[in-house]
Amino acid sequence: MKKKHLLASLLASLTIATALPFSLGSHFQTQAYAKTTAKKTVISRIQKTPDLNPTSSVRSFSKATYSQYKSTFNKEYNVDLMSKPSVFNHHQALVYTASPQLRKYLAVSMKTWNNALGTTVFKTGTSTNYTIRVGFGTGGQNGSLWDGLYRTNKLWVNKSHFNSNSYILTVLEAVSGKKVSKPKTAADKAAYDKYYRGFWEATITHELGHSLGLDHTPYLDDIMYAQSGESAGSIKYSWTTSKTGNGSFAGFTNKLSNRDINRAKLTKLLGYW
Ligand SMILES: [Zn+2]
Repeated sequence: MKKKHLLASLLASLTIATALPFSLGSHFQTQAYAKTTAKKTVISRIQKTPDLNPTSSVRSFSKATYSQYKSTFNKEYNVDLMSKPSVFNHHQALVYTASPQLRKYLAVSMKTWNNALGTTVFKTGTSTNYTIRVGFGTGGQNGSLWDGLYRTNKLWVNKSHFNSNSYILTVLEAVSGKKVSKPKTAADKAAYDKYYRGFWEATITHELGHSLGLDHTPYLDDIMYAQSGESAGSIKYSWTTSKTGNGSFAGFTNKLSNRDINRAKLTKLLGYW
């Protein structure tokens, strides 16, 4: 609908609303300003999308529709509000780290989302002006529970894994199911460095994905991939085995999948960032 036509129909509905008795008039206004799509239509469109992938067919509903069926969208696409409301102002977060070591990885991860979404959602903040703070953490009670963690407005990277010169080998072994020997040649070392860089960029990109309201998926080609998912709260189904997706492993390439990007576009519509 063109802008001119939209204005004309709004004016028409206003005229009718004032002419009608009060109760009918206010009902009419609700219809005109907060039009929601019928539940049957919403469910049917969701069911036609690929698993956990909110393609464009479910991204053109009204604000009122996303608000009314929020829990349905949350559950069908594994999304939920994960940042405190003050993190995003005008769809933008200010991200700061005091760590020179983390800074270059963080910059790449922020750019990964910004480029994919076509907007500066993550902007570099300062020590006195930021909404998300990034730093090193201990990785949980036994030091190996997580590689990265996002909570409310804080993002942590596991310091011992980050500083380890063999942790990436453990990850490579877990992903490939094969024994991986320590790099010996210069070519091996270059390959290891590439995996290392990709892994930590992907880890921070994953945690920033949580800030946007994305929970995990079983797809290896997703940045938001996790080895398992428990069917609690807003999650479509639980899993203990991975799904291959397009065959690549985003955890080493820091490449967002079409599924990651579509889910982030959906969480914007849901008002999570
Ligand atoms: Zn996660």
